[in-house]
Amino acid sequence: MTIRYTLTGDRANDHRVPVTGEIDGLQGPTFDLVLPVWVPGSYVVLDYSKNLDGLTARIPADGRSVPVERIDKSRWRVATEGAPVVEVQFSVYAYQMLTEGMDVTSDHLFVNAALGLPYVEGRKDEPYEVALRVPSDWKIYTELPEVGTSPPRYRAHDYDELVDSPIDCGHPVDLGFHAAGVPHRILLCGRGGNYEAHRLQEDLRKITEAQIRLFGGSPVRHYTFFVHLNDIPDGALEHLNSNSAVYPRNGFRPHSDYLKFLATASHEYFHLYNVKRIHPKVLGPFDYTKEVYTKLLWAMEGTTDYYGYLMMVRGGVTSPTKFLETAAGEAHRYLATPGRHVRSLEESSYLAWIDLYKPMEETRNRSISYYLKGLLVSLCLDLEIRGRTENRASLDTVMQALWTRFGQPGKGIGEEEFLPVASEVAGIDLAPFFARYISGVEEIDFDQFARHAGLTFGPKPAKTEPEDDGEPGWLGVEYENKESLVRVTTVYDGGPGRRAGLSPGDEIVAVDQVRVPHEKFSTALLRAPAGTTIDLALFRRGWLLHVPVTTGAPPPEKHQFRAREDATLAQKAVYESWLGAKWTPPEKTGDAGKPAA
Ligand SMILES: [Zn+2]
Repeated sequence: MTIRYTLTGDRANDHRVPVTGEIDGLQGPTFDLVLPVWVPGSYVVLDYSKNLDGLTARIPADGRSVPVERIDKSRWRVATEGAPVVEVQFSVYAYQMLTEGMDVTSDHLFVNAALGLPYVEGRKDEPYEVALRVPSDWKIYTELPEVGTSPPRYRAHDYDELVDSPIDCGHPVDLGFHAAGVPHRILLCGRGGNYEAHRLQEDLRKITEAQIRLFGGSPVRHYTFFVHLNDIPDGALEHLNSNSAVYPRNGFRPHSDYLKFLATASHEYFHLYNVKRIHPKVLGPFDYTKEVYTKLLWAMEGTTDYYGYLMMVRGGVTSPTKFLETAAGEAHRYLATPGRHVRSLEESSYLAWIDLYKPMEETRNRSISYYLKGLLVSLCLDLEIRGRTENRASLDTVMQALWTRFGQPGKGIGEEEFLPVASEVAGIDLAPFFARYISGVEEIDFDQFARHAGLTFGPKPAKTEPEDDGEPGWLGVEYENKESLVRVTTVYDGGPGRRAGLSPGDEIVAVDQVRVPHEKFSTALLRAPAGTTIDLALFRRGWLLHVPVTTGAPPPEKHQFRAREDATLAQKAVYESWLGAKWTPPEKTGDAGKPAA
C-alpha cells in the first residue's frame, strides 16, 4: 500500500500549496492523519499544523464527501464509510524560507514534508509518494528516486525517509563534484550570491573526502547540499542524503565569512555519519507527536561541530593555526558562561527543548550549550585518548568503532553505550573523564589537555601601550542598544552587576549624573577602572532609580593555544596526527603558523 500526495506549486501570490492525498488499503470506519509537531534535527515543538487549512475528504469511486473531524491540534480523523480508498484535499501556507521550511514563490517550491504532508496513523512504515505539479520549465531536485512522470513522482520507503528528503523545484545553480568517487551536488537556490563556483566545488570536495577517508567509505551513492541564498541566515539542517542551509547571499566574502559557510557545510556533512546513522535510539524511528529525550545530543551536535572544524584542517581548506584560534575562541566563550558550573552536558542535551531552543535572560547563568561544551569536551577527549595511549587510539578510532557497530539503518545507540564503547576502543578507562565533564560540571582545565599535543592554553595577553587608558571597569552584564539607551539583557551570576542588584530590562540612562547614550557607555566604563564605585541612574519597569555599583576587573579578552617550549617528540607526534599537518603551531602572539625552532 502507498500513500500518494500531489502538490501544486504555482500559487506564488498567496504562498499556498494545494495538496491532494490518496490513501488506499483502508479498513475500518475511520483513519487518522497526523502532522509532526517537530522536525528531526531541530529540537523544538513548532506545531506546523497551524499552516494547514481546509482539510476535506471524499471517496473517489463515487465522489461522495466524507466527514473529517479535528481530534487535536495536529490530528484529523477521516471517515471512510466503508470505502477502501479515500482522497483528502487541503492547502498549506508556505512562506518560510528556513532550513526546515516550506516555501512557494515565483522562483521555487521548497518542500519539507513534515511541514505539510501528514502521515497516516499506524502506517508510517509504508511507502509515501509525492507528485509535483510545477511550471514546466522548473527543474525538480530531491534525493528521492523518481518513479513516474507527468507529473513527476518521487517515492520514499517510509514516512521517516520522506521527512528526511527535502525537495526543491525551480532554477537553482547546479554545481557538481565527485568525492571519493561519489557524485555530490551543490544547489544554490535564490538570486544573487557572491560565491566563486570553482572554489566552492574544490573546497567542499576536500572536506567531504577527508570525512569519507575518516570513516573508510561513504554511506550514500549521491549527496546534495541545498543552499538557499537569502538576506538573513538560518543555519542548516541535516538530512539522510542531503542538508539544507539558508545562508546570506553575500556571505561568501570576505574569506572569514566564507570559512563560516564551509564550517556549516562540514558540520552538516559529518551528520551523514553522526546523527543520521550513528544515533540515539529515540532519534529514529521518530515519534513526531511530542518531544523525545536523549542525553547524547552533546555527542551528536558537539562532536559533529568539533569534527566539522577538524575536517577543514585535515582536508587542507584551513590551517592548523586557524583551527586552534577557533577552538580557543570557543573555549573563551565557555569560560565566560556561568551556567557551565550548573548544568551538565547530559542535562543540557536532555533539556534542549526548553533550554537551547528557548533561551531567556537567565539561560547563560543556568545552562551551557551542548554544541559549545560538546565541541570542547570532544577536543579534550580526543587529546586525552591520544596522550594516554601514546597516540595509538583517538576519538577518530572511537567514531570509527561507533560507525561499524551502530551505523546500520535502524540500529540506535543506547543512552549508556557511548562510554563503554569509547573506553573499550581506547583501551583506557574513560569513566572518570565522563563523570567530570559529561555527567558532571567540573571546570575543564584546557591547558592540561593541550599539553598532550605540545600546546599550552591560557589568556592572550592584551597588547598595551604606555599611552593606553588601561582596562575599563567591568559590570558583568550584557546589554543592547534600545533606541540609544543601554538596556541590560543578562546579568551574570557572581559579577558586580548581580551584587549591586542590576536586573534584566534595566535601562541605564546616566553614569555619575551624566547622561550616557548607548554608544558612549563603554567610554564611561573606561573612566571607572576595577574598584571604582559609580552611580547608575536607570529606569526599572519605568521607575527611575539610582544604583551604586563597584566595578570589577574584566575577564581576559581572548584565550589562545601556543606551542610549549618543552614539547616532546611524542607530543609533536600527537599534534601532527591530530591535525594532519606538520608541527607548526602558533609559537607566540602574532607569530601564527611559523615553524617552531
Ligand atoms: Zn548539527
